[in-house]
Amino acid sequence: MAGKLYVVATPIGNLGDLSPRAQQTLAQADFIAAEDTRVGARLLNAFGIKKPQVSYFEHNRKAKGEQIARRIEAGENCALITDAGTPAISDPGCDLVEICAQRGVEVVAVPGPCAAIAALSVGGLPCGRWCFEGFLSVNKKSRRQHLEEIREEKRTMVFYEAPHKLLRTLEDFYEILGDRPIVLARELTKIHEEARRTTLAQALEHYRQNPPRGEFVLVLAGAPDSEERAPKENPMELTAQLMDQGLSLSEAAKQAARRLNLPKNSVYQQALSQFSEKE
Ligand code: SAM
Repeated sequence: MAGKLYVVATPIGNLGDLSPRAQQTLAQADFIAAEDTRVGARLLNAFGIKKPQVSYFEHNRKAKGEQIARRIEAGENCALITDAGTPAISDPGCDLVEICAQRGVEVVAVPGPCAAIAALSVGGLPCGRWCFEGFLSVNKKSRRQHLEEIREEKRTMVFYEAPHKLLRTLEDFYEILGDRPIVLARELTKIHEEARRTTLAQALEHYRQNPPRGEFVLVLAGAPDSEERAPKENPMELTAQLMDQGLSLSEAAKQAARRLNLPKNSVYQQALSQFSEKE
């Protein structure tokens, strides 16, 4: 009889968040497929669980996925874990689940911590409808294209981001999506846990002075309704606001034009005649 694939969520910081059912599943599995077997070993040791592990990560997922599925078909139970949180959510796992599902192998969820859900739940922004945007691309063009696509998204959006890329991401958000509320949920369940509820402009100011540290989830408000947006849609008001935040006249005019979908040159010429003495 075939075994099962258990998709097991593990803590995103606080070990106390490993559920009793997750502990039991890890203890009873025949083997564990881990994103990083060293991280897996630390978790297993903390709970006194001894189990053989195989590595299953982004770059070996094709070959390893097939091997793991074959072992399960031959009767073994496998628990899949990643370094933190829920496997398959911006983590390896999706492919393995797909391979198993295609072969008719039973896949069982052992749910638990997930940074996106934890951030959303404490953020205080509307949670009725929301969407997960994962990590933005490191490629500037794809990143900007992604943001252009969600410019009019009304639902609350959730992103993952690494600390060294945070400022760049906030700058792109601000330039392409305009100023709006954001919650920066940092180090959730850990000692320095915080949820900074602020705006993009204020977050930029803060993190320019205080280099970001730790792991972040960004919970961003959806696009405002057009009536709420109207007063800010004056290109010269927006250019002035951006100049006050330190941008040059030409850069401020360029960003204002982009954000308001207006011809760059006409906004620039207007700004030049209105603000050139400020530069
Ligand atoms: N599968 C995981 C989950 O369910 O949350 C996410 C894995 S993804 C590779 C790692 C990203 O999750 C980090 O870059 C960060 O954005 C977010 N993250 C993980 N742990 C976090 C924590 N304790 N606090 C805030 N964000 C966290």
